[in-house]
Amino acid sequence: MEENICTTCIELNKIYKEMENEEDLLKKIKTGFRVYDLMEKMKEEGALTFYMSDTPFEKWREKIEEEMYYSYSLYMQCTNCKKVYELEICIRGTPRFKVHNVPPDKEEFKEMCKRLKRAYYL
Ligand SMILES: [Zn+2]
Repeated sequence: MEENICTTCIELNKIYKEMENEEDLLKKIKTGFRVYDLMEKMKEEGALTFYMSDTPFEKWREKIEEEMYYSYSLYMQCTNCKKVYELEICIRGTPRFKVHNVPPDKEEFKEMCKRLKRAYYL
């Protein structure tokens, strides 16, 4: 089946596709931060909107550097195709890049954060 190409999130989609089969941990970690920078730029341009996170978007990078938790999850949504891009950075672990064609459930995320005694931003 041919997937529809969304021109708004094409660049982000390409990186996520590349990361699907990437084995190199260091490259994945570097890409995780590169993705965050791209998300920030796209957010400013109005191409992405904040969807949900366990950490405030604006303070994401500095919060990770504090290393208070094992992992940090961020979900951003394309304003055009509504796909949701999940980015999870793990302290001393493998980052996760996941594209959700159907936006994930915010209530479920909220419950999960509560269980982990984490803050949540919806
Ligand atoms: Zn899109």
